[in-house]
Amino acid sequence: MKSILRGRYLITMNENDEIIENGALVIDDDRIIEINTFQEILKKYKTASIPIYGHSDAAIMPGFINTHTHAAMVLLRGIADDLPLYQWLREHIWPLEGKFLSKEFVYDGTCLACLEMLKNGITTFNDMYFFTDSIANAAKDLKIKAVIGQGILDFETPSGRGPDDYLTKALEFINKYKNDEFIFPSVAPHSIYTCSKDTLLKSKEIALKFGVPIHIHLSETFNEVEDSIKKYGMRPVKYLKEIGFFEGTVLAAHSVWVDEEEIEIMSNFGVGVSHCIESNLKLSSGIAPIARMVKKGVKVGLGTDGAASNNNLDLLEEISIAAKVQKGITGDPTVVDVKTCMKMLTIWAAKALGLENYIGSLEVGKKADVVTMNLRKPHLQPIYDIYSTIIYSAKSSDIEDVFVNGKPVIINGRHQFIDEDELINKSIWWAEKIKADNKNLILKIFLFLYLIFIV
Ligand SMILES: [Zn+2]
Repeated sequence: MKSILRGRYLITMNENDEIIENGALVIDDDRIIEINTFQEILKKYKTASIPIYGHSDAAIMPGFINTHTHAAMVLLRGIADDLPLYQWLREHIWPLEGKFLSKEFVYDGTCLACLEMLKNGITTFNDMYFFTDSIANAAKDLKIKAVIGQGILDFETPSGRGPDDYLTKALEFINKYKNDEFIFPSVAPHSIYTCSKDTLLKSKEIALKFGVPIHIHLSETFNEVEDSIKKYGMRPVKYLKEIGFFEGTVLAAHSVWVDEEEIEIMSNFGVGVSHCIESNLKLSSGIAPIARMVKKGVKVGLGTDGAASNNNLDLLEEISIAAKVQKGITGDPTVVDVKTCMKMLTIWAAKALGLENYIGSLEVGKKADVVTMNLRKPHLQPIYDIYSTIIYSAKSSDIEDVFVNGKPVIINGRHQFIDEDELINKSIWWAEKIKADNKNLILKIFLFLYLIFIV
């Protein structure tokens, strides 16, 4: 089954950063089989039976890659804002997760997140959460690619009894999905403050044995660095290097508090970074020095983090903020330029996840994960530099069509395979359930105080 995608600009993100004006590509099944000018493609493939997507005012580009998220947390979007990370986690998120986390919660939440991401031009996301089968089922039902890692911790949660149980689950998940067309398993030890050295090294061994990436939170807050110095006598990145954790593909989310020596280590060991600027700003965690990382050759991608700390899954919004914040903190407007930004959204993110042979650019032989954007909008005209238009002027609502593995998943902004209203109604149902439970809790506390002090 073939299809043709055409546009005013075909942005390849290949090694030469080639942009083909009035370009087109041909998809056969799940792969790109030809890229050329629309005229040439028409000459070669002109048959009435091949559907043509896109138009003369469209930009065609690789699907965006969200390198760090906890997708199901969309169901907790906006439940507790304006708090520091540890208070937010301990007083709100962890108690709620303790109560509501289940297969159904994760499936319904991830479905909603997948729909939001697809509509925002995201064709792959890197998730760390619990009930990984539910995440995988949601991603497959919504037809989006997902790198999925069982969250590994040293303590019990509703999804596991402790590190050995999580590690067993991680192994089972890898075996089940190692050859899937939409799912790429990973191993996801949560962080150095929730995993012992033993847990971290066991996670690494599994990742190396099966050739899958490791996904970890690293140096997200200054607290984490202080604790690491107290406990291990060194900063987090150095600690992981010393224990021999950096082997294979490692994706470090956040990496806000890293010094020059640590950036050097990350560069030398090929550690990828997921830059989550909105989550870091909102929780006042700090600002990752990505301009310096990029200069040192660290593979930097963008991540939204969970929607409870963002509060959306919108990489175009994220990249615009990321670029401007780096210019602001460095006093240098030339850092993180528009081309660098496009790479962070696509090919560098693929490299950070070890998936650059499949996704991240539009090239013959690669999987057809392609996004079209309608440029015929007042806020997108005129166009002098298409990268600039996409990074600084475009919004995710300008995305029109989204193809994943060659399938037309979103056409004219609508999902082609699922009932969008049903998903939204499900999330409203969850919010009502969570709100009712919160009210009950307040009532119980009130009754308890009444019984103690009045009766
Ligand atoms: Zn996170």
